[in-house]
Amino acid sequence: MDEFQIIKQYFSHGTDSSHIPVSVGDDCAVINVPAGSQLVFSLDTLVAGVHFLADADPAEIASRALRVNLSDLAAMGADPLCFTLGLTLPDFDADWLEGFSKGLRETAEEFECPLVGGDTTRGPLTISIQAQGTAPTGGALLRRGAQVGDLVCISGPLGDGAAALATLSGELPVDAEDLAYLNDRFYRPMPQLSLGKKLRGIAAAAIDVSDGLLADLGHICQSSGVGADIDIDRIPVSSAVLKNSPQEQWLPWVLGGGDDYQLCFTVPEEKTQALYGLMGADEFDISIIGTIVEGEGIRSRHDGALLAASGYQHFSTRKTSS
Ligand code: ADP
Ligand code: MG
Repeated sequence: MDEFQIIKQYFSHGTDSSHIPVSVGDDCAVINVPAGSQLVFSLDTLVAGVHFLADADPAEIASRALRVNLSDLAAMGADPLCFTLGLTLPDFDADWLEGFSKGLRETAEEFECPLVGGDTTRGPLTISIQAQGTAPTGGALLRRGAQVGDLVCISGPLGDGAAALATLSGELPVDAEDLAYLNDRFYRPMPQLSLGKKLRGIAAAAIDVSDGLLADLGHICQSSGVGADIDIDRIPVSSAVLKNSPQEQWLPWVLGGGDDYQLCFTVPEEKTQALYGLMGADEFDISIIGTIVEGEGIRSRHDGALLAASGYQHFSTRKTSS
């Protein structure tokens, strides 16, 4: 099968979106950007053996690749519009392509973000996805807006991504139920798109947690010229993590493990009522974990110690709960 047959058979998903007059098959896709909106886009590349195991289920690789890109759109408060795919394949493998394209199509349909073009080449297995979205002009959520006094919030549990990797490598044995939960969190991270949209006009700064809380909140702090004080006891951790690992093991996952794809965002005082409104809604699982302060770096509110992604020792014992 040549490149053109591969594209036709596996990646010409088609779309009936009114925003997309021209999709896969021409030299370029043509997209209508709604009036009053800005185009918001980002690209992520996943390399086999580096970002995922080469023998992982191709449908799950596809699902994860698209979801992590959608998570970047969520962090900007953007609505998904469409995406393109750069696919490098070592050889033609019909079963792999069937699984990959099915996982990709299902995820694209779930998030109403169709595939509109790409490039197909031969070489070491590599997947690049560029997701496009829109946000009202001037309304995208940026990293650089945090101000002293803002509350620091997180959209859900941290540490699951790193715990999932530990189960995959055999380092963390867990029961079938927790394995299913962690696998799901790793391969099907939920891009926080509806929260991202609701945070427009509420959050001062936002980022998705792909590299770990300290690294990603650190980006907000650096871009905004501020520091943060964090209550470690308030960071949400799933029961699948708390149940199966001691604190010395999970704390570095929570602070420094990536792959969680929660949103970390800051909310200024005048918007706290709106924040409480979101926190009261069943749809979301937001926790307030700290405040933005003057200075730089991220400190424990407990004792003022500067936090590092690994080896933070001064932590009060917490109860097991989710
Ligand atoms: P060109 O040589 O003009 O770049 P290509 O042969 O690379 O054209 O691509 C032909 C069409 O197929 C284009 O519309 C391109 O966007 C699309 N395409 C190529 N590879 C992929 C892919 N992996 N997924 C989706 N669309 C693809
Ligand atoms: Mg091309």
